[in-house]
Amino acid sequence: MDPIIIIGTGLAGYNLAKEIRKLDKEQPLLLISQDDGRSYSKPMLSTGFTKNKTADDLSMGDAAKMADQLNAEIIIDTIVKSIDTARKVVVTDKAEYAYKDLVLGVGADVISPPLEGDGTDDVFSINDLQDYAKFRQSLETGEKKSVLIIGAGLIGCEFANDLANGGYNSQVVDPVGRCLPALLPESASAAVQRGLEGLGVKFHWGPLVKAVNKTDAGLTALLSDGATIDADIVISAIGLRPRIDLAKAAGISVNRGVVVNRQLQTSDSHVYALGDCKEIEENVTLYVLPLMAEARTLAKTLTGDATDIKYAPMPVMVKTPCCPIVVSPVPAGVNGKWTDEVNEGNNVKSLFHDSDGQLRGFALTGDLIKEKAALAKEVPTLLS
Ligand code: FAD
Repeated sequence: MDPIIIIGTGLAGYNLAKEIRKLDKEQPLLLISQDDGRSYSKPMLSTGFTKNKTADDLSMGDAAKMADQLNAEIIIDTIVKSIDTARKVVVTDKAEYAYKDLVLGVGADVISPPLEGDGTDDVFSINDLQDYAKFRQSLETGEKKSVLIIGAGLIGCEFANDLANGGYNSQVVDPVGRCLPALLPESASAAVQRGLEGLGVKFHWGPLVKAVNKTDAGLTALLSDGATIDADIVISAIGLRPRIDLAKAAGISVNRGVVVNRQLQTSDSHVYALGDCKEIEENVTLYVLPLMAEARTLAKTLTGDATDIKYAPMPVMVKTPCCPIVVSPVPAGVNGKWTDEVNEGNNVKSLFHDSDGQLRGFALTGDLIKEKAALAKEVPTLLS
């Protein structure tokens, strides 16, 4: 019998395999990954210093251990190059594999800023355990102490807090002019900025980083306003984009992500997608809670019980301990406005109502994160 093939051994791929095994112990499973297949929780990458964990500490098991646990075959360091949906075959850089059903758990790629200069190859993007291992090794070699972070979104701010906890100075450059602008209202952005500044983080609002060049001492970034910032290490954290190329080349419908219906089925009836790479009813969800729900649902469908996805409330905890944040992101395409109910020092409670007066999102900071559970019940769930 041909296996179910899962491309990707991130949280989406491994959680799906675990959920399938709860329902069916024997169904042949093959996972293929371009990385080393170690199982880890990606959100922990931006808490390594705070929790004092290296890349190896964050690994919960290598591919051999996971294969044993999951009664699955796992092929690592292997890139899937194409999918032949007519023959139901995936083609890798090494061999071809036939599938019964295929699942894309290929995640999202970092967006790279268009940088000039001879230091661009030294700019880190931290999007998996192997990136993180290289970053830690570089940071801990010699006397490196200063870090420039490009982008003040969720990942940039989390790294700024974590690096401060590890004793590193960071500076953050962002043209938009506030922290987590895509997720938070201005009041909550200001609260987290104050928290990070209290740890010594410096923000440069307005300019873009245009170039990164090598110097005798490290790197120097040239900003679009002509200013320069010297740093030992530069991290780019300007955002992520679902990986759609494989699906697109196979003739599967894509938009911002790989388009799926409520059974997580793509436009090809034997190909499914979940996690960061998928788009469902115009929503791309680059978070863990959605993919856990998707793994449970898709496991049922793939073992013979076709099931529609239902999402529970999914507030996101932003890992900035200097100013804790919980945000229930406003779904794509919803119009409305934020209103601050509380805005006192570190404590912000801001609610987003749509044009019909329905609560569609919220942001809580500081002590007010304790209101998360009560507010989450009031927000309609995704797709409800
Ligand atoms: P990935 O983990 O990216 O896995 C993709 C897999 O596909 C990899 O194994 C890769 O090797 C494989 N692959 C891709 N293309 C191919 C190919 N062509 N051939 C073979 N294999 C391929 N979310 C939260 O909810 N809360 C948080 O606090 C949080 N913090 C985060 C902090 C950081 C630093 C980052 C980067 C993300 C964070 N996220 C957080 C987001 C969350 O981690 C992701 O939503 C989730 O891990 C995505 O899992 P995934 O399996 O879909 O993708």
